[in-house]
Amino acid sequence: MDIWEQLYQAAKPLYHPEAVNEFIYAHNVVCALQSKSGQIFTGFCIEGLSGTLNLCAERVALLNMYTTSGETEVQRLIAFRDAPPTGISGMPCGVCRETLLQFSPNNRHTQIMADYATRRTVILDDLLPDWWGDIKTN
Ligand SMILES: [Zn+2]
Repeated sequence: MDIWEQLYQAAKPLYHPEAVNEFIYAHNVVCALQSKSGQIFTGFCIEGLSGTLNLCAERVALLNMYTTSGETEVQRLIAFRDAPPTGISGMPCGVCRETLLQFSPNNRHTQIMADYATRRTVILDDLLPDWWGDIKTN
């Protein structure tokens, strides 16, 4: 089992879309990531009707990593909403891309699964080139 399958298997049980109550929906998208130290952390999306509560699976996994371990660097991540072995994995939204880079500019090297079947990946730097924070970090 390669690391991508380990990540997929870690996140898969979290995929079970449900309404927490009449305001909150969760588990529609799931994510697993591998931190710099090699640990695996997971997350699922939590969305509220107000529109201000929306937390993507990627950010929940990142916050899970940070609050649990204090780590800020992510080696790789996968996010999906149903069955990645036969489909394309999800790309992080703009907020998640920005959040990953603000937690650590080294996350520009984070590998993101683009196509689980072929193991095609992209790196965050390709999704968010010329990041504004480079002015401060360079
Ligand atoms: Zn997002």
